[in-house]
Amino acid sequence: MSDTVERIECFLVDAPREELYLGRLLPGETIDERGYFVRKANRTIYPVTDRSLIVKLTTNEGRIGWGETYGLVAPAATAALIYDAISPVALGRDPFDNGIIWEDAYDLMRVRGYNGGHYLDAIAAIDIALWDLCGKIAGLPLHKLLGGQRHERIPAYVSGLAAPAQDDRMALARSWVEKGFKAIKLHIPQTPDAIIQEVAALRDAVGPDIGIMLDLHWMFTGPEAVSLLDQLAPYALSFVEAPCKTEDVSGLAWVADHSRIPVAAGEEWRTVWDAKSRLDARACSIVQPEMGHTGITQFMRIARLAEAHHARVAPHATIGCGIFMAASLQASATLLSLPYHEYQPTIFHRNAGLIEGVVECDGGSYTLPTGAGLGVQPSAKLWDYATAL
Ligand code: MG
Repeated sequence: MSDTVERIECFLVDAPREELYLGRLLPGETIDERGYFVRKANRTIYPVTDRSLIVKLTTNEGRIGWGETYGLVAPAATAALIYDAISPVALGRDPFDNGIIWEDAYDLMRVRGYNGGHYLDAIAAIDIALWDLCGKIAGLPLHKLLGGQRHERIPAYVSGLAAPAQDDRMALARSWVEKGFKAIKLHIPQTPDAIIQEVAALRDAVGPDIGIMLDLHWMFTGPEAVSLLDQLAPYALSFVEAPCKTEDVSGLAWVADHSRIPVAAGEEWRTVWDAKSRLDARACSIVQPEMGHTGITQFMRIARLAEAHHARVAPHATIGCGIFMAASLQASATLLSLPYHEYQPTIFHRNAGLIEGVVECDGGSYTLPTGAGLGVQPSAKLWDYATAL
């Protein structure tokens, strides 16, 4: 008898952080009564805790698949979309129909304009859980179902230097290099002058052979970004990420056309169509799909389209409890065009206690989870932070 999806459950994981995401509050930034703060530079809202939404699919055969998406803001909205709109599409279906289920769920809301945001996050969570089930049914790790394992380990770049003082950040950078990491990304939203000063300090700290990347958090117009990047030319950046607002595709293309520094984008995309408009415009040469937004189905469609455009795929990694991270590593293991995967130490190591499954990042690369499907599942500790939605 084949497995079909019999039950769908959503949980919010809300885990405390010792330090705010992206570091301490800057002047003018405050925490509101609901536990949110807004970064002035990129005007983006963040919660003070690490929040994530996980889904549990149970089949008629008693097999369990795990999925995860963003739960940073209004996670109950994502759960409501899963229960109200997507569950009827997924219940009773064969998990191996995951591509069709993704398309059927997407079609429900297309003409209403819900082709991003919470709705696509909700589909992503279900999609990851369906693929996890497929691996468990087949008795194979996920990468085997996605085309095969090209990489034994996944090269990683260090994302962010979490220390308030520049001297401490540079000491941290040197310690990562000593541990075997070959690339570091700066991502503290700040003024152009402060960015130049920080990049110069980092190049001085790590020497000429370490890659330096810069996340500009969608802060600039195309010409502004090019002007800044011209001033950063002496420091040989490996890529600049998100220099322009996500809606400003022509601005991004301007940067790609007028700067010698490769442009990376994509952490906020949900679908292959988000990627297509940028790749068609040659607005970026590195795409950064975020598994928590795309799910496995769209992650792979984005990666294949990028490869068809001779672009690189450097997956994004952010706040989650480790389930979509495992999915991202499994998918990344299949990619020919992978230079590295993002690694955010302050999130990754906290997650080590929230999931079961051997995943490590040391010596400059990740190990892959082992076992069938994603190779990870929630630990007993995760349930200390979880509530049913
Ligand atoms: Mg970013």
